[in-house]
Amino acid sequence: MINRKGLLFVISGPSGVGKGTVVKKILEIDKNIKLSVSATTRSPRNGEVDGVDYHFISKNDFEKLIKENGIVEYTQYCNNYYGTPRKQAEDWINNCNDVIFEIEIDGKQQVEKNMDKIISIFVMPPSLEVLEHRLKKRGTESQEVISQRLQTAINEMKQAHTYDYIVINGALEDCVQDILSIIKTEKLKSELMNDFVEGVLSNV
Ligand code: 5GP
Repeated sequence: MINRKGLLFVISGPSGVGKGTVVKKILEIDKNIKLSVSATTRSPRNGEVDGVDYHFISKNDFEKLIKENGIVEYTQYCNNYYGTPRKQAEDWINNCNDVIFEIEIDGKQQVEKNMDKIISIFVMPPSLEVLEHRLKKRGTESQEVISQRLQTAINEMKQAHTYDYIVINGALEDCVQDILSIIKTEKLKSELMNDFVEGVLSNV
């Protein structure tokens, strides 16, 4: 039996690449993995559930968390705070669960500074054409908005090399399997297996 802390995986990728779907599949397959639920000061929308979609908290409480180092990364958007709470993730990790933060590049850079160790994965589209097609399929945005999103996506993809791993979301299943392989490989790193080896050899 191998009993050790969980690992923290940060997954990013441009808007439209389908990382939400990929992460959902991973959670369905590997029940040991938990997805961090963000905290926000915005009000819940119809149908949103506290603790599931977000932890909905007051501005005062959010600012208190920032001061107490209880938020590992955050941003302000439309006059509201959004961020990743520290305690929930650390409790899971201490309880041997692996944890995923699905966040933007900015957030990843903050997490790198604020957490002991992260493993970062960037999800790429197979091509710009495919990404544009997926962005168009998504909704009602005008060509101008889609072009803006594509430009943002290009800028984000230029940072892909700062991640530990890059996976391609062409076929969903392949991408999911690639990420599961990364997770498995990371757990077999010798630095994590040393306790097991020492246990085996303890009576020698
Ligand atoms: P919404 O209000 O539509 O749920 O989210 C607004 C924006 O906040 C989205 O761009 C979303 O990605 C971002 N966001 C949600 N949670 C977090 C978080 O924990 N950290 C950061 N940095 N951004 C977040």
